[in-house]
Amino acid sequence: MKKPSGRGGTLERGAAGFDAAVLGTSFSGRDPGVRPQVLVQAEKVYDVIAAVKRARRENLKIAICSGGHSWMQNHLRDGGMLIDMSRLDAIDIDTARGIAHAGPGCWSVDLDLALKKHGLFFPVAHAVDVGLGGFLLQGGFGWNSRVLGLGCENVIGLDVVTADGDLIHASAEENADLYWAARGAGPGFFAVVVRYHLRLHPRPKTAAIAIQVFRMKHLEEVFLWADRIGPEVPRSVEFQLLLSRNSPGIFAPGVEIIAPVLTDSWKQAKADVAFLTRGPLRPKASFTTPLLPMSPSALSRFAARRVFPPGMRWSVDNMWSDAPMEQLLPGIRRIADTLPPMPSHVLMLNWQPPAARADMAFSLEGRNYLALYGEWKNAADDARYANWATEHMRAMAPLGKGIQLADENLARRPARFMAPANLARLDAVRAKYDPAGRFHEWRARPG
Ligand SMILES: Cc1cc2nc3c(=O)[nH]c(=O)nc-3n(C[C@H](O)[C@H](O)[C@H](O)COP(=O)(O)OP(=O)(O)OC[C@H]3O[C@@H](n4cnc5c(N)ncnc54)[C@H](O)[C@@H]3O)c2cc1C
Repeated sequence: MKKPSGRGGTLERGAAGFDAAVLGTSFSGRDPGVRPQVLVQAEKVYDVIAAVKRARRENLKIAICSGGHSWMQNHLRDGGMLIDMSRLDAIDIDTARGIAHAGPGCWSVDLDLALKKHGLFFPVAHAVDVGLGGFLLQGGFGWNSRVLGLGCENVIGLDVVTADGDLIHASAEENADLYWAARGAGPGFFAVVVRYHLRLHPRPKTAAIAIQVFRMKHLEEVFLWADRIGPEVPRSVEFQLLLSRNSPGIFAPGVEIIAPVLTDSWKQAKADVAFLTRGPLRPKASFTTPLLPMSPSALSRFAARRVFPPGMRWSVDNMWSDAPMEQLLPGIRRIADTLPPMPSHVLMLNWQPPAARADMAFSLEGRNYLALYGEWKNAADDARYANWATEHMRAMAPLGKGIQLADENLARRPARFMAPANLARLDAVRAKYDPAGRFHEWRARPG
């Protein structure tokens, strides 16, 4: 993904450069064939206010993008107005209060590197160029989120432009219903976020990673073991299983155990990942790396090159599940057997949510998170791969609790993404702030 180049402005459909500007907002390389009527590339908050007022006057429905990382290009709709917030990416760090003020167009890596200079930390996304705009609205599964909470739990307030074109602040004290909605509504949010106010944390002194790789024939025993020990894995470790057709070191289909750890000493980091080296399956592993120093940004860059290259077409879907691993395994084996070529991959994250979270729209998660990422370059392969993730997740849905909006594909598979009571409450808040339905909501609601 490239940073937006040049000044902002307003482009009407048909203008020179319009198509490139619209498609350039998207991380996905796919052209869905639909275009807004008008594209507003906002540079300042005032541009957003003016754009929303114009949309009201001309009865245009509004879509919004910031980092453009919606896998399924949620912001690309037919007609209406698209407001591109990528140029509002300023970061202002108040070290004394431990707060950052950041624009929605700010990338994960930018915030992380800016905070690093002050020894501070925020649970940013795992890919360098994900925008804060969409990331924080849908929940935000960031670095060290098992310790620090979801990104959205660290949002202490936000400034938004409402459907009336008013600039207002939302926090626990002011417009608390909107603040509640902004933490979990994801692509169903009904105002334009122009600035986030974020609670910061001391930066963990040690960032490292350990990796263990198995051949695909060991899939079942690795997943069963991982599920068994999951609850005891220290929360400082993001315990992930990744399936691909070309695992590092073995250059063959494999299961990678990836264990990044963020903590305050090397000794503690070693102790926290010791479950890998002491595990009963270690003799079956093709190899186990020692603990390697690796910053979150460096790891994000590595992942971007390996599994998230730009310009791909995507088939993505996911599920939260509390089901016993024995029941999940036949579906996971079918997924492994049909996995499209690299860089397509599957992620199983040992999430283990806390017993309770703050009261907010975000309200659905589970013990394990399973996400499928099918990727290919040529439109000619669409018929082959485009439904891969969705079909598998549809088949396994009875074993799931619902989906995470981060990796949503609601257009193809409307699935539950929020507790029903929260969805009803969110609709009530929407009716108050956006009674005319000026803003697009999710592509589909739970079926
Ligand atoms: C390579 C990659 C890696 C990812 N890694 C992670 C990860 O580690 N953790 C995680 O939780 N998620 C991750 N995601 C998912 C990502 O967080 C979501 O897709 C998120 O919505 C992207 O935000 P964005 O601003 O970049 O995307 P956009 O496509 O710009 O926004 C997505 C939607 O959010 C809404 N939106 C965006 N900006 C605004 C705004 N300013 N005001 C109001 N509404 C807005 C719109 O409805 C928009 O369609 C990843 C996605 C990709 C492609």
